[in-house]
Amino acid sequence: MFDLIIRRGTVVSADSSYLADIAIKDSKIVAISETGIFDSAKRVIDAAGKYVLPGIIDPHCHIHAGVNGIYDTLDFYTASRCAAFGGVTTLLDFSESKKGKSVLEAIKERREEMKACAVDYGIHAKFVEANDKIIDEIKDIVAYGCPTFKLFMTYRKSGVMIEDDDILKVMAEARAQGAMPGFHCESNALVEYCTEKLFQEGNRAWSAFPLSRPNICELEAVNRIIAYAKFMDCPIYIFHLSTGEAMDAVYNAQKAGIKVTAETCPHYLTLTDEVYQTADGHLNMMSPPLRSEKDLNKLWEGLADGTLTIIGSDNCTFTREIKEQNLEVNEDGSVKPDFTKVISGSCGVEERLALLISEGINKGRITWNQLVKMTSLNPAKTFGLYPQKGAIQVGFDADMVIVDPEKEVTLSDETLHYGIGYTIYQGITPKGWPVMTIRRGDILVEDGKFLGEKGSGQFLHRKLTK
Ligand SMILES: [Zn+2]
Repeated sequence: MFDLIIRRGTVVSADSSYLADIAIKDSKIVAISETGIFDSAKRVIDAAGKYVLPGIIDPHCHIHAGVNGIYDTLDFYTASRCAAFGGVTTLLDFSESKKGKSVLEAIKERREEMKACAVDYGIHAKFVEANDKIIDEIKDIVAYGCPTFKLFMTYRKSGVMIEDDDILKVMAEARAQGAMPGFHCESNALVEYCTEKLFQEGNRAWSAFPLSRPNICELEAVNRIIAYAKFMDCPIYIFHLSTGEAMDAVYNAQKAGIKVTAETCPHYLTLTDEVYQTADGHLNMMSPPLRSEKDLNKLWEGLADGTLTIIGSDNCTFTREIKEQNLEVNEDGSVKPDFTKVISGSCGVEERLALLISEGINKGRITWNQLVKMTSLNPAKTFGLYPQKGAIQVGFDADMVIVDPEKEVTLSDETLHYGIGYTIYQGITPKGWPVMTIRRGDILVEDGKFLGEKGSGQFLHRKLTK
């Protein structure tokens, strides 16, 4: 007898969609067949009229991450709950590496914290420096199951940025050990110059924020990192690509045979920099900033043509109080706009799937099959989780999300589960909503209820394939 049968759903893979029944036993997919053949299971779920997708893998989440002593509001349990509501069954976070500290130690500490997760999880190693000791650790970090890295090309003042000469050292060792470094691409010099200039001019309005990190910041950093990747012959990943120009640079690099994989995020695909003209513009501050309509459309084109292959959330959850905590307050209680003092970051792990369906599929920009590629198959392959995860196939972990393509939900603080008092997607009503999330055969979410267990997620020991 099977543990679970999912009956009559439209199973979506990266290259086809077909009506089938899926049988699950001992946390694995054990059989897939035309409907009505499997007889008994402890539970049978009727998915008629619904789509069955492989569970989403979010390769870019910041949970309980401290910058200058300020932390986002979710812990790993509450974050994994939000993730499960959004159809996510695996998330990757980052080690909290600091100068003078062992990166492997930071990874082990993070793993302890992540044990609270209800979804499966892995860790990217973050590098903020590269002395001999740290470079020597890389082989152990890879052997520990963390073969993908994150390096920041900006945030010098908060001690997060890694110097270029250290980037090259990490690249050399990553290549030798079969690892892949990923980059937050913004030119620190340009960001600092533009920010300082606006500050001196007294232009600290929310609307000045995108001017402090204009498109050229991303383009310069992307061009530089591509040049390094070519010279070092090291495959690289680019986190949260946001501009059309940088996407063209990635396209040309890929054409030239340089191994560059690039991600974008749901907010760059849904919202534009016009929001910074509004009174609550600061709630939309994340880096890189939201861009123009032209960039937004170009990113969708890049997803459709395969230049961008992955969608991460860059989830980083802050209440309004935290975002505003460094701002001065007027007599009437309102805050004095100063974009340089706003805490940066926004949500995404829960609403991503619905946004991608409504903005992507329903508007004819991508297909269901492409969606599955970007949110599951490609992240599994890129981050060393394939063939355990990333597809609905016999032998794979039974990670799935069932989507009701007709269900409409208006995004709000009440319909989402972050508990922060607002959403940057206020009033948007996506059509197409995840109604059930299954992780290794366990139902985590059903009909708007969380049924998962704290600590039931597993650490994923990852290894990259050439
Ligand atoms: Zn990020």
